[in-house]
Amino acid sequence: MENINPLENALTQLENAAIILGLRKEEYLALKQPDRIVEVSLPVMMDSGEIRIFQGYRVQHNNSRGLYKGGLRYHPQVNLDEVKALAFWMTFKCAVVNIPFGGAKGGITVNPKELSSSELERLTRVFTANISEVVGDEKDVPAPDVYTNAQIMTWFMDEYSKIHGHYSPGVVTGKPIVVGGSLGREKATAEGGAYILKELLKKTNRRAEEVTVAIQGFGNVGQGIAQILTEEKYTVVAVSDSHGGVYNPQGLDIQRLINIKQKEGTIIKYPRVKKITNEKLLELNIDVLIPAAFENQITINNAKKIRADIILELANGPTTLEADKILTKNKIIVVPDILANAGGVTVSYFEWTQNISGNYWDLDKVETKLKKKMVAAFNEVWHQADRYNTTLRNAAYIVALKRLVEAMKVRGYQ
Ligand code: NAD
Repeated sequence: MENINPLENALTQLENAAIILGLRKEEYLALKQPDRIVEVSLPVMMDSGEIRIFQGYRVQHNNSRGLYKGGLRYHPQVNLDEVKALAFWMTFKCAVVNIPFGGAKGGITVNPKELSSSELERLTRVFTANISEVVGDEKDVPAPDVYTNAQIMTWFMDEYSKIHGHYSPGVVTGKPIVVGGSLGREKATAEGGAYILKELLKKTNRRAEEVTVAIQGFGNVGQGIAQILTEEKYTVVAVSDSHGGVYNPQGLDIQRLINIKQKEGTIIKYPRVKKITNEKLLELNIDVLIPAAFENQITINNAKKIRADIILELANGPTTLEADKILTKNKIIVVPDILANAGGVTVSYFEWTQNISGNYWDLDKVETKLKKKMVAAFNEVWHQADRYNTTLRNAAYIVALKRLVEAMKVRGYQ
């Protein structure tokens, strides 16, 4: 059976790039382990009066290029290996887009859908208190990830500000605008992915109008990319959420799907359209497949059945190592997560910059700077893929690894 531990997946991706670059083990050894692991127990009084204990994590992977940065995930399957892998990918992601941050990630093992809003607030506040020593706008800055949002970031920022006795908007990103959020942050991951897809289509001489798209996951990232691509005249034929998917070869009405998701909690309530499973969505005969949900969705079991020409990884770690080999063999272009979804952390960097300077930008400035960063990163990765005659994934790791090794060397870590 295939090993689908995301941490082992991440470490193998690192090894592959290090071999291509001919690095000595000592030069990148420090990247194989996180700098710090914080594991906290979180007692929360439920609305019923019962006390429940949740498990929380913050993993700080590497800060050789800047402060630790990475999202917070609230999900029943959160575990230490997953958080370590996600923290590792953040280090590489920030290096690929060349922003002055390192990598971190955090999470709580919880199903937030089962908690009331006040329970979720108490959980977030106790989590903040228990990790408040290791975070801060000069140390480590969390952000939203799966099943966390701007409200949760606000509770985090508010609790941290109370503990430290001063207003600290820069301690988290992904906040609402009214408390120091950045214009453009909400859609930044999707926007960044759309810029990358556009550049890739230019290289392969294709126009948006002739491209069909399927999207797995319909949360912040999935909805955002569906909206943007529809505006840009691509045809989004299928989308899915945790309950299943909907498919119309003529294209879906994305705004209507968003309204249904908001009202009913799932897109499968969309009337008079073909329903498909999440598995089937991945295997549709389309041009671009966008995983925007979880790790390990494209595996040895279904990689052979994938018919898309391009996979744009907006989720973190959606493709296993064995699946990746099959996709490469079948000449499917995979735009790796650490490049494709880096728009989110890029605008998080802009948000943090605005918070610590007190100087706020208009949307045009955010979008122009994001586009510049993403296009530059894409071109550099494309160039390295060409130079080393390798996949875009290996090339993205090569770009990141060169920058990380250089930073560690000059700082005297080795
Ligand atoms: P989200 O919580 O807003 O949405 C997650 C979506 O996935 C929901 O629609 C949910 O219904 C769906 N889902 C859950 N289980 C599923 C399943 N088995 N099959 C299909 N869909 C399923 O989360 P998000 O912020 O959109 O994050 C999605 C992915 O993008 C994650 O891998 C995350 O790490 C990655 N990512 C997010 C950001 C960001 O800025 N939010 C940045 C970079 C990467």
